[in-house]
Amino acid sequence: MPKKQRLTRAGNRWTEAGFNGFLVNTLRRATYRWPPKTDVLQAANVARGLYRCAMCGKDVPVTVPVEKKVKGKKKIVRKRNIVVDHIIPVVDVDKGFVSWDDFIKRMFVEPDGLQVLCVDCHKKKTFEEELKGRVDGRRKRKQKVR
Ligand SMILES: [Zn+2]
Repeated sequence: MPKKQRLTRAGNRWTEAGFNGFLVNTLRRATYRWPPKTDVLQAANVARGLYRCAMCGKDVPVTVPVEKKVKGKKKIVRKRNIVVDHIIPVVDVDKGFVSWDDFIKRMFVEPDGLQVLCVDCHKKKTFEEELKGRVDGRRKRKQKVR
């Protein structure tokens, strides 16, 4: 049975899990201003709007058009097609969340810890990481930072 979440943070507005989610999102957003990320993107940029994926080696456009239904109408929107990936996952697949120190250290790595991947390769990589972490069933997935 799920434990009842108590509101203990931000003047009793947020649960611990909500607070942790807020920290994760805020830190993740900060990586957009992390210079090594820009370096890695620049290095993978092979032509205007084209980036080389470190896994499949294909040169892929930064965004691709996809059909999306907006209020019942079909619309063409552009979806991001490349990802700056942490070669070593920010949260260890076996250990799960260890500490904020560890999380920050693994989030803000130097350029050699980052790679540009196409969305397909990134999906494959995270899927395989999740499988590896799930040695005894489905225990790992929920164990991120909650
Ligand atoms: Zn790829």
